[in-house]
Parts: sequence; structure tokens; C-alpha cells
Amino acid sequence: MNYAATQDTIRQDFPILDQLVHNKPLIYLDSAASAQKPQAVIDSMVHYYQQDNANVHRGAHTLGDRATQGFEQARDAVQHFLNAASRKEIIWTKGTTEAINLVANGLSGLFKAGDEIILSEMEHHANIVPWQMMAEKTGAVIRVLPINEAGELNHDQLIELLNPRTKVLAITHVSNVLGTINPVKQFIATAKAAGVITVIDGAQAVPHFAVDVQDLDCDFYAFSSHKLFGPTGLGVLYGKQVQLEALPPYQGGGEMIERVSFKGTTFNELPYKFEAGTPPIAEAIGLHAALSYLQALDRQALEQHERALLAHAKELVSSVPGMRVIGTAAEKVPVISFLIEGLHPSDIGTLLDQQGIAIRTGHHCAMPLMEKLSIPGTARASFAFYNTLEEVDSLFKALVKIQNMFA
Ligand code: PMP
Repeated sequence: MNYAATQDTIRQDFPILDQLVHNKPLIYLDSAASAQKPQAVIDSMVHYYQQDNANVHRGAHTLGDRATQGFEQARDAVQHFLNAASRKEIIWTKGTTEAINLVANGLSGLFKAGDEIILSEMEHHANIVPWQMMAEKTGAVIRVLPINEAGELNHDQLIELLNPRTKVLAITHVSNVLGTINPVKQFIATAKAAGVITVIDGAQAVPHFAVDVQDLDCDFYAFSSHKLFGPTGLGVLYGKQVQLEALPPYQGGGEMIERVSFKGTTFNELPYKFEAGTPPIAEAIGLHAALSYLQALDRQALEQHERALLAHAKELVSSVPGMRVIGTAAEKVPVISFLIEGLHPSDIGTLLDQQGIAIRTGHHCAMPLMEKLSIPGTARASFAFYNTLEEVDSLFKALVKIQNMFA
């Protein structure tokens, strides 16, 4: 596919991109926070509510059957998307955050006081706080893999940290601040050889490249629909069947039971054991549409385009005096966190918004990383395949303009 030739069509698939903000064409550079949705996703959800809306797994009528079918077909689509071995390994959650809470909570039975969990310095709070809460209850200890100057993890340091008390390695596939793509396959193999359970936060990985959980051989993998061009309110927890079978249910209620009496309850089989209550049905159908949309595109061409966006942004950094990029890993997704001498990140964000450019500023839910870098926060421009090289130019022109205002 010639990407340049098809990009206009791709942009037309995302109606939100075609609007003015402060009388300037919107330039959306905040896809790492939440990605925009193609019309196909919006249409699928409208169609569901207009034609099929009913509760799932309740049998008795046609709408209920249609809703159940749409909902369960979405699970199959996620199974194929991740190349999971079985549909039983795909659990719907509210998002990455809930998926990691489910795992941390479920694994607490494994931990005795003094047992260890390895995290990394670049983790999002979603992959720190659930483990801290679990550690508080069990007396487990958190050990932290450091990053180097470029914002990369070092495999030798993982080997140093591993010891007979290590029970879990929980790391991010891609950093939401630094953009670093971690060599998780190698880390998983090392952890597995040491009998350690692996949990991968894939929130920032799946929007950028294909992920094969069988190839990675991780025990758990989590992501959020809304960062993958699907609706909010939905996430996915992949878990190897043997791991999920061993995990206790996370919440109690309807759907997750086989039989309830006041003497006790037997739990439903996988994947339903973890899905208490009415699930996010329209959202699952919306995510299915997002996956179908992505599948119809040439993902390698999208990746290539994203690499071109990142390369172009890197080239332009020197056009802004005093601009410092935070995160210079060799393997990166198109995310640029930066600081500009003399300017506060939140001022940069506000002034860019005046020019129609949406970025994110602050600590990006990674306060330990900010502490490590001795900075209070950054400005962050994050790109998706619908962004253009011209938008990268506009960002840097706007930054120069802002800088001149303060000179
Ligand atoms: N992990 C990473 C790396 C993230 O970037 C995010 C979202 N910023 C999360 C976890 C949490 O995702 P959610 O808020 O969708 O649960």
C-alpha cells in the first residue's frame, strides 16, 4: 500500500479529526491518552443500540441472542488479534487498570511476607499501585528495575534482581511517557526460566504493532479498548488458561456463577468466572469493529508511517532551541515527551491548544519515573497512524512561535 495515497481516505474514516479548534484545524497529538474512533466503530455501536440491544446470555428471545452473538464474536476477534490459544483466555474488564488489579488481587494468595515482585521505573501507576496494595496485605516486597539514560531497561539487571523469592515480573511493553518498546519477549523467557509469573501492560503497545501472546509466552497481558481506536469502558485481560484456572474470581455477582445457594456458590467456567454482572456489550461490539477496521488496513504500512512521523519529529527537535526530549530509546513508538527551557509544560499545552494542537502535559500517571528523572512533568505529543507529516511540521512551528513569545 502506498500510505501517502491512502492517508486522506484514512483520515476521512475519523470524523472527529475534521474540525476547527480555536478557529484552527484540529491537530490531535494525544492518542496515547485516548485514540480517536473510526466511523465504523461509532456505526457498530449505534447499530447495536438501534437494532439489537438486550442483555447477554439470557437466552429466551431474539434480541438477546443477537446481543450475545455480537458480544461473543468480539471475544473471538480479540482472541485472534492477540493470537491467544483459546477464547477462554480472553477476559473483559473495564480497562488495563482493572485487568492488572484483577491479576494482582488474584495472585495475592501466592505471596508470603518477603516474597518479591519486580516492576520497572517506567511503569504507569496502573502497574504500580495494584501491586503495592497487594504487597501491603501480604508483606510482599517490590523491587524496581532501573532505566538507563535513554530510558531503556537492561536485561542483566533483571538477572541480578531475580532470586528465589521473586514471584512476579510485571512490566510495561511500551512506556506511555518515554515511548520505549521494551524487549519483553527476552524478559519473559528469563523470568519463566526462574519460575516467575509474567504480567505485561500492553496499553501502549497494541495501538502500534501486532502482539502475539503465544510468541511472547507471557502469563498475562492487558490492554484498553479506548487506546486501540475502540470505545472507553472496556479492556482486555489475556491470561494463559492454566493461570486463569488457578486464579480466584475477582468480583462476585451474576454471570460469574454456576450455582448459588445460601450454603455456597460454585463458579462459572472460564472466561465467565471473572465477568461478574452485565458486561460492556456495546463496547465489546465497538472494539470488534475497531479490530476489523485495523485488520483491513496494512498494519506494516501503518507502522512504517508511524516511524516516519517519529523520525521527522526527531529531525525537527533542533529547530526549537532549548528543547529536550525525554526518552531516546533506540526502539520507540511515536511518542515524544519533551521540555523546553524556560517554559512550563502546562503553559506549552495551553498555548498549543490555542493553535488547535492537542497534546498532554503533566506526570502522565508515572510519578516514580518523574522522580527518577528529577522533573515535575513533561509535555507529550503522541502520534497515531492518522497523523500526517504536515501535522508534525505544524507542531514544531507552533513550538517555535510559543518560544518567541517568551523570548
Ligand atoms: N498502562 C499504560 C502504559 C497506560 O498508558 C495507561 C493509560 N494511560 C494505563 C496503563 C491505564 O489504562 P486505563 O486508564 O485505560 O485503564
